[in-house]
Amino acid sequence: AIQIRQLVKRFGDFTAVRNVDISVPAGSFLVLVGPSGCGKSTLLRMLAGLEAPTSGSIAFGGRTISSGEGGVIADAGARDAGLVFQSYALWPHMTVAGNIAWPLKVARWPKEKREQRIDEVLAFLGIGALRERYPAEISGGQQQRVAIARTIAPKPSILLFDEPLSNLDAKLRIEMRSELMRIHRATGATSVYVTHDQVEAMTMATHVAVLNNGRVEQFGSPIDLLRHPRTTFVASFLGTPP
Ligand code: ATP
Ligand code: MG
Repeated sequence: AIQIRQLVKRFGDFTAVRNVDISVPAGSFLVLVGPSGCGKSTLLRMLAGLEAPTSGSIAFGGRTISSGEGGVIADAGARDAGLVFQSYALWPHMTVAGNIAWPLKVARWPKEKREQRIDEVLAFLGIGALRERYPAEISGGQQQRVAIARTIAPKPSILLFDEPLSNLDAKLRIEMRSELMRIHRATGATSVYVTHDQVEAMTMATHVAVLNNGRVEQFGSPIDLLRHPRTTFVASFLGTPP
């Protein structure tokens, strides 16, 4: 479960995230959607522990992991969260297997279990044949699969995605959408997924938060938002008549 309470992030006198309150149960697929600059990445970076809140708090499974008073209380490893970014950021000098091994080494998995887990996630993502290749020797879509494999390898209970598909072409993006849903279900993780694509938001989410100017305009199920948009901003952003 994730509980975000009265979360605020200021950069100087600019407020990027304003009094955000969102709670979702374990196993949810929460999508943060909204136009460029509305604060999606800032919110996700706070969930990841890469950024400290100005005020308010974030709890995972009832445990406060960041707050205005305490700053970043637990880092990404300690908060049991895995991150997938838009740019895959694979280590260029390491093979696919080496890239996936890396977070397992950090988490001190013994070598034998590590090798076993690498084979398991490679098979799960259908990229077993790429095991000994280097990132420069595989396609963008394959690199993104490796990045996802690397993130889920240590079995984090929270998965955080920041527009992971935006560098892929339209066809691959649609294919990877269902792939990500499959991963979400199979891992049993609670996922938070940032996008500015309304279709992605509506097809993937169990819960959607529409952000505008750092504020939550509306929070609810996809059906709820489509049927009952509360503001004209939500209606026009989702493309539904008000
Ligand atoms: P996009 O869809 O373009 O990725 P976003 O919703 O992810 O946008 P953020 O990256 O969260 O938006 O940025 C929200 C606002 O906060 C923007 O106006 C941005 O310029 C500002 N901002 C983000 N990081 C910083 C920073 N480190 N210092 C100052 N301002 C920042
Ligand atoms: Mg962003």
